Amino acid sequence: MDHFDLKNGVLHCEDVPLTDIAEAVGTPVYVYSAATIRRHVRVFREALAGLGDPLIAYAVKANPNAAVLATLAEEGLGADIVSIGEYHRARAAGIAAGNIVFSGVGKTADEMAQALTGGLCQFNLESVEEAEMLSAVAAEIRLEAPVAFRVNPDVASGTHAKISTGAAHNKFGVPIGQAGEAYARARALPNLRIQGVAVHIGSQLTDLSPLAAAFEKVGTLIAELRGSGLAISHADLGGGLGVPYDPSLPLPPSPELYGEMVTRLTRGWDVRLIFEPGRLIVGNAGVLLSRVIRVKPGASEPFVIVDAAMNDLMRPALYDAWHAIDAVRPHGRAMRANVVGPVCESGDTFATNREMDAVEAGDLVVFRTAGAYAATMASTYNSRPLTPEVMVSGDQWALVRPRQDIQALIEADRLPPWLGVR
Ligand SMILES: *Cc1c(COP(=O)(O)O)cnc(C)c1O
Repeated sequence: MDHFDLKNGVLHCEDVPLTDIAEAVGTPVYVYSAATIRRHVRVFREALAGLGDPLIAYAVKANPNAAVLATLAEEGLGADIVSIGEYHRARAAGIAAGNIVFSGVGKTADEMAQALTGGLCQFNLESVEEAEMLSAVAAEIRLEAPVAFRVNPDVASGTHAKISTGAAHNKFGVPIGQAGEAYARARALPNLRIQGVAVHIGSQLTDLSPLAAAFEKVGTLIAELRGSGLAISHADLGGGLGVPYDPSLPLPPSPELYGEMVTRLTRGWDVRLIFEPGRLIVGNAGVLLSRVIRVKPGASEPFVIVDAAMNDLMRPALYDAWHAIDAVRPHGRAMRANVVGPVCESGDTFATNREMDAVEAGDLVVFRTAGAYAATMASTYNSRPLTPEVMVSGDQWALVRPRQDIQALIEADRLPPWLGVR
């Protein structure tokens, strides 16, 4: 559920008409609903109520805006990070160091040293080679690194290939069949405190069974590791629960059902559970607000050319993702159209032969479910400045990232000396 609703014929974010934001900030612009973010945290937390005191470590990469992170810090969330940049962002927004989990397949020695010095809950290691590097880094600065191995359970997650991470051919984690050996080797290394097991099989999962299959394998591994004398105190079950994008498709499993499944499968584990939701928290809490530049006739359907493009919202080009597109002031008529951006790529297409509100030049539209993996993937391709971001709370709103200035974009480059400085 979100807080983007029609009131008096105008789409609002909470109590703010989107027309007000478009007028003040211009378009395209991302708009986030703080009430929706907070609601998703509470729903997820309630779904996990029977699991003691789990650590909910928000996957920062889904939406790293400082206002989003500060809202989540207020809600008491930790952070799952995949780079030292995300570590510093999370800390700057007020997330406690002890609630940070460091994931990612390519952590460098410098990133490890910075995170160790600043403090964290655990490193999720992805190979024995990485454990060796971390051990050396930790020994050098005389600190002990809390670690888990991320295991690759070899389950098919049923999601889009580009966001599947838990199949044997994916780059992520230690193959579960080799996990015993990896733990034994890590145990022999100095300055590591082996405390956990981690798993994350993919994103936008719409079926609980691959998650359940993965968690069962993790449970078996925990028992084996304990049998070999390791004190396993943490189990990180990752993120991945899907959110509704297309209202014509069945709803993904609810957080309640997910919580029931986890409660059933982790009974007797006697660990602190860690969860890493990203999309679930912010996906439906954002829209991309855009204006129709013009409508151009097409071979079959017309092209609705909007002022947002693939550089602002990359998901359709990258993953063939489907976003609902709605008029901010619906005229009450429908049409079929292709919705495209101005970028010079045929991939700059948001929707093909889409049944939608019959919009005209100058009308405002929103791309829904654009809170996750959206603004954060924006680029300046075609020399388009980075999209601004707005957060709404009740009847208040604030610019939480101004539109990038075209002059700043130009001045970011430097001329080499042989081209002369006039
Ligand atoms: C991306 C990621 C997540 C978050 O996935 P969602 O589908 O957004 O919940 C969690 N853990 C790890 C390790 C990730 O890479």
